[in-house]
Amino acid sequence: MTLGGRSAAAILLGAALVSPVGATEPPPLLPEPAVRAIASEVSGTAAKRNLQDLTLFHRMRGSRGFRAAAERVRDRAREYGLAEVEILELPADGKVFYGTQRSRPAWDVDFAELWEQRQDGGAWVDAERIASWEARPIVLAQDSAGGEAAAELVDVGAGNAEADYKDKDVRGKLVLTSSQPGAVYALAVDRFGAAGIVSYAQNQVTGWWKEDETLVRWGHLNTFPAPKTFAFMVSLRQARGWQGRLAAGQPVRLRASVKAGQHPGAYSIATAVIAGADRGHEIVLSCHLDHQRPGANDNASGCSAILEAARTLAKLVREGKLAAPRRTIRFVWPPEIEGTISLLNARPDLAPRTLAVIHMDMVGGDAEITKAVFHVTRSPKSLPTAVNDVGEAFGRFVNEQSYALAATGAATYPLIDPEGSKRALQAELVDFTEGSDHQVWTEGSWRVPAIYLNDWPDRYIHTHADGVANIDSTKLLRAAFLGAASAYYLAGLDAAGMPALWETVRRHALERTAGALARRDRLRAMGEAAEAENLMRFHLAYEAGVVESMSRFGEVPPAVRQEADRFLAGLREMMGVNSADAAGGLVYRRAPEPKGPMGGFGYDYFQDRTGAKGIAAPALLKREGLWGGGAEYAYEALNLVDGKRTVGEIRDALAAIYGPVPLPEVTEYLEDLEKIGILIAGGNPHAP
Ligand SMILES: [Zn+2]
Repeated sequence: MTLGGRSAAAILLGAALVSPVGATEPPPLLPEPAVRAIASEVSGTAAKRNLQDLTLFHRMRGSRGFRAAAERVRDRAREYGLAEVEILELPADGKVFYGTQRSRPAWDVDFAELWEQRQDGGAWVDAERIASWEARPIVLAQDSAGGEAAAELVDVGAGNAEADYKDKDVRGKLVLTSSQPGAVYALAVDRFGAAGIVSYAQNQVTGWWKEDETLVRWGHLNTFPAPKTFAFMVSLRQARGWQGRLAAGQPVRLRASVKAGQHPGAYSIATAVIAGADRGHEIVLSCHLDHQRPGANDNASGCSAILEAARTLAKLVREGKLAAPRRTIRFVWPPEIEGTISLLNARPDLAPRTLAVIHMDMVGGDAEITKAVFHVTRSPKSLPTAVNDVGEAFGRFVNEQSYALAATGAATYPLIDPEGSKRALQAELVDFTEGSDHQVWTEGSWRVPAIYLNDWPDRYIHTHADGVANIDSTKLLRAAFLGAASAYYLAGLDAAGMPALWETVRRHALERTAGALARRDRLRAMGEAAEAENLMRFHLAYEAGVVESMSRFGEVPPAVRQEADRFLAGLREMMGVNSADAAGGLVYRRAPEPKGPMGGFGYDYFQDRTGAKGIAAPALLKREGLWGGGAEYAYEALNLVDGKRTVGEIRDALAAIYGPVPLPEVTEYLEDLEKIGILIAGGNPHAP
């Protein structure tokens, strides 16, 4: 590392320590006393204690463990003085649909053990316990059914192609596979009659993939149709040991005993509010409460961080250190994706009154252990919003303050927890990525802007080792601070706040423009001049959309509007962007029902419905674009349908967001959506 200009100058001047400029910058957007109050109250230790509590439960959707965790959250929310604390019960039996999400039945386990056996005087006896639900619930794949088996183990490799079973007799035996149980079930069990599955699937690819062979990873069978047998998850080391013996011609015999299965149940969703004077509008802090035990970073961290934001704001309001929020601040703890889709369908009043969501999923990983990079992630490009700028402004503030502390030992707002690290946060401020419930809120059915706080990578995600020891309470504190400050600001934002918000948006617009220029240059270098022009036109329209979005929170004063118009016109001129005729084509609008994204959890509406009609998978889903892949193109293609844009305009927008894409691929996908009743042809092109 080389010394930067400022540090080098400081050393030359003989100053041992100087604060970086950021350490003395005033906090953004909120009045300084409000920021000071939140920063002084918020506690990483308190958040980590709640996190620890949640890690005691194996939190599968609809299970007894999930319910117990929801009750912990409910009890804490009551203790913290929140209002309207309740657990919503949404029936989940595999038959009820919530919009595009087919509810998944609850799944519970009473007992599961896997033993290796040896011969003793002609009989097989248990020799070594390989897996125990009681000790480590992660060892049993989700949706396993009960059953008993004592049989040989047969290695089928990936096990997802017929060739993997050639010359192997797996009938009545247990198969060892490198794939997720759900991926081999149809062949191994239904087709070839295996008695059960043992998997060492290595999901969640990161730079540290397969390096730690002791990890036991979370495994899944398909929920639909209900599996008739079980699957155990073992470590890579265990699998390699067996493979070595099998290759040497030594048989491996296992005995499995499982009492488990699906049953009708409910999604239990804890929620609570800090009531504002305006009950018609809400700011939501969200997370997902489910996942395997311990699931500390994914996602007891996000759940305890929003709970800590709740405790902090409720206490400060009670003590009169903060004025009561103007709009209501709501907190929700659903099971991931399927819970949020179900909630927004079951409570149709919720999304329309929600002005913004701050979603947390993995916000506590100690970077030295998990290798996490923390992100403040924007809403998708189909949803231009100044809410992104709010998250970004506070993210930048915490970056500056925490760096000042780390680099010099002093900061005005150090935001450190006495039991946590002093490391700089170094949050990345990034464009939309998929991967959690925020993508449900921002989806075209609801279009609620969302800031997404998240770690990636995490070398222990979805393993038995995603434990409390990996959590940095300072990072939890900072996540809770970001959530509390952003939510409190958005809850109070009105016309008076617009000039300051506009200043923030303008600065960020210039940075986003720099990013757009880099992409334009890349397209030009590839000889894609027309796509380069298209990208800049989209970018300018997007920035105009961001300005427009401010009115969601209050009247934008004429002076601010005029200044924004001048700014955008100047940007257009500086970038040399010419207007062009809008691309033509059919116009679609979204059918009012069903609401939700095409892909839920454990059930994919698009796949199910197109499959039933014999429609082949559309090419768009397989596209590898410059800045995104098939699922992302598909997600945004549907979001861009608004009853005004033509298919050609949707293609142009998609090309600008994720990279050039041929028109026929977009047309095909939208036609498929029409065939399954999601879209209706006809709309109102270029309606005001
Ligand atoms: Zn998660």
